[in-house]
Amino acid sequence: MRANGLLIAIDGTAGTGKSSVGLAVAAKLGYGFLSTGEMYRALAYKVFEKGIDPASHDEVLALAQNLKFTFERQPSSALKMFVDGEFLGPKLHLEEVGNVASKVSTNKEARAVLTRRQREVGQNGGVVMEGRDIGTVVFPDADIKFYLDASAEERAKRRVKQLQEAGKAADYDAILALIKERDWRDSHRAVAPLKPAEDAVVVDTSRLNMQQVIDFVTEKISQYAS
Ligand code: C5P
Repeated sequence: MRANGLLIAIDGTAGTGKSSVGLAVAAKLGYGFLSTGEMYRALAYKVFEKGIDPASHDEVLALAQNLKFTFERQPSSALKMFVDGEFLGPKLHLEEVGNVASKVSTNKEARAVLTRRQREVGQNGGVVMEGRDIGTVVFPDADIKFYLDASAEERAKRRVKQLQEAGKAADYDAILALIKERDWRDSHRAVAPLKPAEDAVVVDTSRLNMQQVIDFVTEKISQYAS
């Protein structure tokens, strides 16, 4: 075990509840929680803001190298992220930003920059880290690894419900198409493609509600720790 506790990796496709599950589990354990997708989203947001082409390797890399990520532990366990001292918050959760994030995240050198920062945050343990490549690339030696998945249709349904509950318009077909496109790009890229680590516990959440997933993950962790 690391100095501050276990290092728990949660990977999986978009919209499987990785963040909600990770946050709940971290809160139970008194650990910090980091969603690494936020870092790729922040890079995407800055790329978009500066009018850089997401496919422009050198410009995206230069931007990644210059972004300063700092984290502040919240009472909820979340590690609140500041980029160059600014909290970007809900702006990062727009569908378009997620889509650009999956484009800039194909940049091998920019990934290396973010991976280095993620390792600094997690190296002493006591952290639940969520993303696409935590168990395979960032921390192949994580203590416990989970991989959450669900059918694209089920994830699109959940996203529509989430948007509607927030009073926003939601087009199921457009959301489903975006989810499929993002899955394809994330799992077919040359660097750190999305896939379960060989030693990951794979959880199909299609027929489970959030609480059931949290209970399952918590049970596995206590089995590991005992
Ligand atoms: O998890 P989230 O949807 O916020 O991630 C946005 C995008 O960032 C993903 O679609 C993926 O392309 C990228 N990402 C990644 N590696 C991670 C986390 C996110 O490539 N560890």
